[in-house]
Amino acid sequence: MAVWIAHDHPERPLAYGAWLCGCRFCDLALHAAVLADPSLRVVVKTRTGRLGLAARVWLSGAMHPSLSDGYEVFVAPGSGARGFE
Ligand SMILES: [Zn+2]
Repeated sequence: MAVWIAHDHPERPLAYGAWLCGCRFCDLALHAAVLADPSLRVVVKTRTGRLGLAARVWLSGAMHPSLSDGYEVFVAPGSGARGFE
């Protein structure tokens, strides 16, 4: 898997391998991707582990307070495809 950063490719649809740095361009890309595919999932990698969740839940900000420092967000493998949970 080749990892790429969402803000480097604003025209590229988010898919597995996309990494989101949290800047407003990455945020916009994720918002657009969720509108196109509400089932889109992300993996949030923290210092203690990985957490898979729906991208729209991540965007709601509900998880943010529990992740006080150091996390990375990736588009989950198989996201957008039927049958991935
Ligand atoms: Zn970014």
